[in-house]
Amino acid sequence: MAQFKNLMEIFKLLNKTNCRKCNETTCLAFAAAVFKGEKQLAACPDLDPGIIAQYGVQEKRQSGYEADLEKALAYLKSEVSAVDFSTAAKRIGAVSANGKLTLKVMGKDFSVDNKGYLYSDIHVNPWVTIPILTYILQCKGSPVNGKWMPLRELPGGQERYRLFAQRCEKPLKKLADTHTELFEDLVDIFNGRPVENHYQSDIAIVLQPLPLVPMLVCYWKPEDGMASDLNLFFDASAPDNLGMDGIYALGTGIVNMFEKLALRHGVVQ
Ligand code: SF4
Repeated sequence: MAQFKNLMEIFKLLNKTNCRKCNETTCLAFAAAVFKGEKQLAACPDLDPGIIAQYGVQEKRQSGYEADLEKALAYLKSEVSAVDFSTAAKRIGAVSANGKLTLKVMGKDFSVDNKGYLYSDIHVNPWVTIPILTYILQCKGSPVNGKWMPLRELPGGQERYRLFAQRCEKPLKKLADTHTELFEDLVDIFNGRPVENHYQSDIAIVLQPLPLVPMLVCYWKPEDGMASDLNLFFDASAPDNLGMDGIYALGTGIVNMFEKLALRHGVVQ
């Protein structure tokens, strides 16, 4: 059976009425789900049966990013199995009970068992698992000191910054540019705390992705011919509590999740 090369190949086949009969909010969201192998073309009742037969079952595909996540996860889970949870709880700002460590991730409870599996009332994405396990393993318990720094000024951040800007700040800026309301909604959902007077930004929000690792998002709206801008800042203690790899995984993971949510709502162009 033929496999699609990209999302637009699928989108072109649809009638673009966004009728929702496939249980997706838009035809674009449906195309994305089919491309990833999460849905089959036959779920759209308006598609010609001949087209459905031509393409048949679409295999579940893994991006390079997802494949890398799986490898990293396997390693981190094996390391977490050797951690003494009652000692770790105090160090990382978590609670140890019933064989699990429980900590707040953007206002929501996440528990980890001694095999590195995560439990939460909300859907657990790999993006959140990697930073949480890294945090349990690496957090030194350094107090948050309130000094915000861009990634490139943190120890080891200079080498990572170019990729971080491409994979994290740029897509997040695009998201804020195209749908500021959604961006604010997403932050609200995850317990964002608006703050003022940070680098003269128009929107400044503090997220608390991990108990000792806050993150500041600053957004400047376009004005007088000047393009918009968006920067992320971390507390100066972040390298002690998460390490540079963990900070990078956290930032890119959050953006990856926001993008997926936006795509599901049909707002990413
Ligand atoms: S069923 Fe889904 S994919 Fe098909 S036309 Fe309606 S919204 Fe678009």
